[in-house]
Amino acid sequence: KQKLKPTAASSNMRKPSPASSSHKQQQDLNSNSLAEGKDTETLSSDSEETDEEKLIASCRGVDPQAARQILKEIVVNGDEVYWDDIAGLDAAKNSLKEAVVYPFLRPDLFSGLREPARGMLLFGPPGTGKTMLARAVATESKSTFFSISASSLTSKYLGESEKLVRALFQLAKKMAPSIIFVDEIDSLLGSRSNDNENESSRRIKNEFLVQWSDLTRAAAGRDQGDDLNRVLVLAATNLPWAIDEAARRRFVRRQYIPLPENQTRKVQFTKLLSHQKHTLNQKDFEELIELTEGFSGSDITALAKDAAMGPLRELGDRLLMTSKNEIRPLCLEDFINSLNYIRPSVSKEGLKEFENWASLYGSSG
Ligand code: ADP
Repeated sequence: KQKLKPTAASSNMRKPSPASSSHKQQQDLNSNSLAEGKDTETLSSDSEETDEEKLIASCRGVDPQAARQILKEIVVNGDEVYWDDIAGLDAAKNSLKEAVVYPFLRPDLFSGLREPARGMLLFGPPGTGKTMLARAVATESKSTFFSISASSLTSKYLGESEKLVRALFQLAKKMAPSIIFVDEIDSLLGSRSNDNENESSRRIKNEFLVQWSDLTRAAAGRDQGDDLNRVLVLAATNLPWAIDEAARRRFVRRQYIPLPENQTRKVQFTKLLSHQKHTLNQKDFEELIELTEGFSGSDITALAKDAAMGPLRELGDRLLMTSKNEIRPLCLEDFINSLNYIRPSVSKEGLKEFENWASLYGSSG
């Protein structure tokens, strides 16, 4: 996998590795050793732990227990996603590069009028790659990745959830550049008119909005290269219309992530089949592309996985006695069989709703 090549500016940056909290904490505390190019990975886990405690202690007004929980459960390390892993979605990738990746890597160029957005929403049908995009943004912008959902912030203890939200934002500032990724943002920042909204989810929502505003306010008027400018709330939803109106306005950019087009489905199938013996020729691929009109990225993955079982399924128990190279290659028929079970998860009417919302509230480009 290819990593983004460091530019003159990014090689000067303080972050040697994407989305790695341990690196980041160490780097704050060991900036000299980093400058000399020493490998921080070799530091013992003991020192990592005390570094973590030092980081927590440096966050004023933050509950240490909440901060520990955020570092343990919310900061994502490893298993990185890169642009190349995501088929198609060029418009979304370009928009994310301009709105987040370039400003995070070159803060000197993005100030004043070019100041980066503090909130970006990815919306569209389920399984179209929104989560993958968010993860790629974190990797490619060398940011700490905080991945949250409404349920990860919900605590049964009164007041604990607000502490988690405060710890989340404080740590994101300390560990900037940071991406706070909120999956299913509609369940965290759902419409206020929703009668089912209970007291605790209302409190979490308010705290989240307060912390988010504070971030924007604190960053205003700061130095162009200030790390506060490099904390972004990136959110994803399959139900954009359920988001509270005030919250919606804070997502300055709202990017529609549509179902994959023909060419994108082809790229995805080609990728999925690249490590698999198969007999599909150009014409078969074309037929497959046609048959999967309306499929999302995750529908395509599900279809390919099911089809790949075809050659094994027909063996039944004989499978246990068959050597690997005797297994027949995958063919178009396997896909056609699987199409009987794996159907697109978004209906035509459902799609229309997304398109309407995109034309009303989406950002162009
Ligand atoms: P979303 O967040 O939009 O619901 P995800 O990003 O979680 O969707 O995608 C779910 C799965 O579908 C991924 O793990 C991947 O296997 C597949 N997938 C979806 N879109 C793409 C894409 N554009 N390229 C490659 N794989 C994709």
